[in-house]
Amino acid sequence: MALHRFSAIRGHRAQVAALARLVLRGTPGHAYLFEGPEGVGKDVVAQALLARLACMQPDANNPDPCGRCPSCAAFNRGDHPDVTRLERDGATIKIDQVRAAVKRLRYEPVVGAVKGLIVESAELLREEAANAMLKTLEEPSGQTVFILVTSKPQLLLDTIRSRCQVLRFAPLSPDDVAALLMAEGQPADLARPASALAEGSMTLGRTLCDASRMAFVDHVVDFALRLGQDAPSEAAAFVEGLGARLVGIRPDDVEAKGKDLVRADLPWILEILRSAWRDALMVATGMPAESLPHARVAVGLRTLAHRVDAGRIVAAIDATQRLEDKLVLNPNPKLAMTAVLVEAAIQLRS
Ligand SMILES: [Zn+2]
Repeated sequence: MALHRFSAIRGHRAQVAALARLVLRGTPGHAYLFEGPEGVGKDVVAQALLARLACMQPDANNPDPCGRCPSCAAFNRGDHPDVTRLERDGATIKIDQVRAAVKRLRYEPVVGAVKGLIVESAELLREEAANAMLKTLEEPSGQTVFILVTSKPQLLLDTIRSRCQVLRFAPLSPDDVAALLMAEGQPADLARPASALAEGSMTLGRTLCDASRMAFVDHVVDFALRLGQDAPSEAAAFVEGLGARLVGIRPDDVEAKGKDLVRADLPWILEILRSAWRDALMVATGMPAESLPHARVAVGLRTLAHRVDAGRIVAAIDATQRLEDKLVLNPNPKLAMTAVLVEAAIQLRS
């Protein structure tokens, strides 16, 4: 928990503007559901909303908290006595946790203007625990604000959703991910290529800001930009070596440990290939290579952009997309990846 301000939030402009309007009109709701992909900053927006609602000296024309009152100071210290956070305990959020949190909401606020409850992974509230919370949601005291947060809205109980104002969040733009990663101290030469592959998620972006993962990205990008200059058999040799390079750097949700390429490895590799070719395509349309996520291989981007037609780069990108669409059919990962690279090599032949 920290003191967050609407004005400092990157991305989510429509969502932040909607909340700021409610706050300035003095008509905020008492139960919100923030839903959207993992790692896009829903929780930071939740904290910014609570900070402003709890602020004791709010400026009527400014949706940000004052930053000086006892409530703002408590947010700054990271231990606000009026804000409770409910997190999973094992596989679910348990009824005893809900009861304890709801009990704390019954008392008057200690330092702020309201009491707040943030529920992380709200989809883990199952029937019993949800009922315990719903009773409180139906009888708001006027001084309590619930913010439920979920990245799996399809699993959320309808009874909860129907009682909340729903705010949907979208993935962050690559520019926002890059800027936020750099603000966290990541060097630009890791943050920018990571942002191109992060699918709008800071969680994934941080995972990629790792030297050994980025070395793998570089390896694939180099190959993608050279493709078409060597014999097609080069593709098979490249694919043969990929599995061994992935040992120890696979994301947590990929279960494979061995040196063999597995199906779950393919989306990431396809996305790296696409990101390299996308950048080359941008160079072909006149963008300076230095402004793109893969700026550190600017020479390679320019070489490919000059070597082949833009239409052929598009065809190579399409080939990766076709395989991605077919992954549900459970293809042999090595064969499928080799076939895509041979197809792309033919398109990118000088
Ligand atoms: Zn304040």
